[in-house]
Amino acid sequence: MAQTDSYFTTGLDADPELASAIAGELRRQQNGVELIASENIVSRLVLEAQGSILTNKTVEGLPYARYYGGAVFADAIEALAIERAKKLFNCGFANVQPHSGSNANAAVFLGMLTLGDTILSMNVAAGGHISHGHPATLTGRDYRIVSYGVSRETERIDLDEVRDLARRERPRMMIAGGSAYPRAIDFASMRAIADEVGAYLLVDMAHFAGLVATGLHPDPLPHAHVVTTTTYKSLRGARGGMALWNDESLSNRINAGIFPGVQGSVLLHGVAGKAACLGEALRPAFAAYNRAVIDNAQALAHALANMGLRIVTGGTDTGLMLVDLDARRLTGDVAAKALERAGLAVNKNMIPFDTRPPEAPSGLRLSSNAGTTRGFGAAEFETIARWIDRVLKNPDDDAVIGAVRKDVAALCAKHPIY
Ligand SMILES: *Cc1c(COP(=O)(O)O)cnc(C)c1O
Repeated sequence: MAQTDSYFTTGLDADPELASAIAGELRRQQNGVELIASENIVSRLVLEAQGSILTNKTVEGLPYARYYGGAVFADAIEALAIERAKKLFNCGFANVQPHSGSNANAAVFLGMLTLGDTILSMNVAAGGHISHGHPATLTGRDYRIVSYGVSRETERIDLDEVRDLARRERPRMMIAGGSAYPRAIDFASMRAIADEVGAYLLVDMAHFAGLVATGLHPDPLPHAHVVTTTTYKSLRGARGGMALWNDESLSNRINAGIFPGVQGSVLLHGVAGKAACLGEALRPAFAAYNRAVIDNAQALAHALANMGLRIVTGGTDTGLMLVDLDARRLTGDVAAKALERAGLAVNKNMIPFDTRPPEAPSGLRLSSNAGTTRGFGAAEFETIARWIDRVLKNPDDDAVIGAVRKDVAALCAKHPIY
């Protein structure tokens, strides 16, 4: 039976329940300040590429070597994304198929390791990411995970600790890069340790890929055997992940780890979204954006510190920072909820050597990524710091929270999205 005409023409109007929830989310994004480090705001271009008819096409395998026919344009789109990724990160090989950052990591492990091998990665409590072998994940069950932390004095990675652990535990893979680590990592030293013990070095640059692409952060690619990233945080693009490398002898193993290792067919619309954001990232405006991300993060960190809030490690080399709430006698969950009511989206986070549990930790994680995309500068981020301070001093005061919420909405109205 032929579909009624409306099947191909009616949009969200046909589903008011879903439409109203999406409209609500759009308003939330429009009227609130996004400070969550794992988020950003994509361009109309990326939105159109990812929300396209490409969702209809099924392809498996790599471009020009597919299992299904009809892949001429699919091949062109994926090849474009790969070429742009290689150009942006100045590397020899890229796989743009991982559906997410976690999948990219699981695929690299599967392709490069043998089940049961030892992985040396950063503790989640010190800023590592759960996909680096947390016991609750599949990778945590499939491999033997040993973790390093940070130094108690500097709250930074202690290379002596990493070296001692590597010598004792003989990992097959070492991982650098986390989700709540605000400082640049010494990739050359990590690689020297990996070489000494015969391990691969994986760098997961999800939170600083945009800075690497624009030369504002040390580049892991000359040092790591393989680099993984998400594409929707600092790269400001489609949801998904990527793997990048330079050693051709690893290609088959990494590609096979992704497909058929941990994934089936390609999310071609996601790959198109990645091609779109990588294209944007190759333009000069992306470098200006990333410079502003750093300047704004430093302005925010500095302003919060001046208000008596301790910034973990004393600052940030990326767009990301951790705030210790101890001085306010607040926990991260209570603070995040009060800030959300004021229109300021943040996430609770453990700080290094936290004595509190993950559900009610001592810190907050903030980032300048999304606000900078809206066009906020240092002055706006200093204002945001004052709002944060007011809310944290009055987390139960509805009048204060209401007043901040109005100011937040006014700032957002001056920097509209979509
Ligand atoms: C966000 C993040 C990931 C996971 O990405 P998903 O797309 O949520 O799977 C992996 N690694 C790091 C370091 C991250 O920050």
